Amino acid sequence: MKILVVGSGGREHALAWKLAQSERIQMVYVAPGNGGTARDARLVNLDIGDLDALADFVVAEHIGLTVVGPEVPLAAGIVNLFRSRGLKIFGPSKEAAQLESSKDFAKAFMQRHGIPTALYQTFSEAAPAHAYVDAQGAPIVIKADGLAAGKGVVVAMSLEEAHQAVDMMLSDNQFGDAGARIVIEEFLAGEEASFIVMCDGKNVLPLATSQDHKRLKDNDEGPNTGGMGAYSPAPIVTPAMHARVMREIINPTIAGMAKDGITFTGFLYAGLMIDDKGNPKTLEFNCRMGDPETQPIMARLKTDLVTVMEHAVNGTLDAVELEWDRRTAVGVVMAAAGYPDAPLKGAQIGSIPAETADSVTFHAGTREADGKLYTNGGRVLCVVGLGDSVRMAQKVAYETVDKIHFDGAQFRRDIGWRGLKH
Ligand code: ATP
Repeated sequence: MKILVVGSGGREHALAWKLAQSERIQMVYVAPGNGGTARDARLVNLDIGDLDALADFVVAEHIGLTVVGPEVPLAAGIVNLFRSRGLKIFGPSKEAAQLESSKDFAKAFMQRHGIPTALYQTFSEAAPAHAYVDAQGAPIVIKADGLAAGKGVVVAMSLEEAHQAVDMMLSDNQFGDAGARIVIEEFLAGEEASFIVMCDGKNVLPLATSQDHKRLKDNDEGPNTGGMGAYSPAPIVTPAMHARVMREIINPTIAGMAKDGITFTGFLYAGLMIDDKGNPKTLEFNCRMGDPETQPIMARLKTDLVTVMEHAVNGTLDAVELEWDRRTAVGVVMAAAGYPDAPLKGAQIGSIPAETADSVTFHAGTREADGKLYTNGGRVLCVVGLGDSVRMAQKVAYETVDKIHFDGAQFRRDIGWRGLKH
């Protein structure tokens, strides 16, 4: 069987790596891929940007299944397009992807269906937004409605910061259309966790839990990023918490979408905030897997992913039982100098240790030229280590990180620290 993975990040490298391990796979194409997928003999990069041309390629090459990594093609309707041409694809339709592509849609949806989330109000005019901020007080959270590559959220600790964020989005249009409407919501305190499931339209299959690390620097300091590392499983999600999240958040979301006339297929990612009393609330939905959560999750998945994906597109996920490596996986992101504001491209990357039974390095912003590797984006690599405890997995991951060199590399030394606490 031939499969196409759409995307170019560490998430897509990890998905393609896992798919390529299947005995049933003939070829895994990655569009457009990166330096790591270019180097892997089992993977083929495709330089096709246009969705129609991609669909033509899928038809011509008899590709049996397409898996979509990032949110942008999903929000643009790649699933609608492929299905209209009779092609099998795993992901949400454009309509279902609104859970991620419009925060106002997601908040109104959660309110309508009684799914626990922060109190909020939506604004498109600056004056009432400022008045609302003053009435609510700080801390408070200001979010651009549309997709902003993880940069459209300001957690304002002071009123001044909150007013600035309102002006930046509504008056200065810094996020363009994505920020023409904003959601202002209650600040939630607690510990975050990533809860990702697969949906085939009827059945829901939870993946292993994980935790991301959004801030650039150790101890959760510095600016927000796309994610500087993740580990799996997340001990805060105990079996009881897992059951509760399924009951109060995931199942009502799938059922609520159906009630609203939208069948949800694809990965559904609930970003959770769990308060100190153990009550989970939904911070956000994503309609795809997380990056970097995918990297440690795929490193732990033992079940053949091709078979899982086939069940997912055929509506038979109820027949699947996932098997996980019992070890913990810690994924450390190595980012370019200047990330997240202005990442420097073109630094040469030294040699990367070969994959072993307990470590693997996934590529993101890398490019191969003349047999050499160069940085080509903000997040460059994600080094995953597996071990019997968070501590052991960290040790393996950081031993590999310390062997990889490129100018200005930035990474955190504390990925998984919350797991050590539990
Ligand atoms: P991404 O898609 O990269 O996860 P996003 O732009 O969709 O990010 P959110 O996940 O909604 O944004 O928010 C980003 C981060 O901001 C969250 O992971 C969390 O740390 C913080 N955050 C969001 N909403 C709240 C809230 N109500 N209270 C406290 N912190 C919040």
